Amino acid sequence: MRTERLVRRAYRLRSWVLCRLGRHLWARRRNPEVGGRGALYEDCRRCGTVRMGWGDRGPGPLG
Ligand SMILES: [Zn+2]
Repeated sequence: MRTERLVRRAYRLRSWVLCRLGRHLWARRRNPEVGGRGALYEDCRRCGTVRMGWGDRGPGPLG
């Protein structure tokens, strides 16, 4: 339907705006090829931007 396509387009546009404003949808991930705290990182589910270094705040629950 045309309406459904419009809604989907509006959703993508809003997601793009949120990412442009820095409000990413972060998802925590672990790189299996890297050990220790360096293996932890986050990437945005919407645009795929990767954020590193948040684990430097100190030892977290994952060690
Ligand atoms: Zn994003």
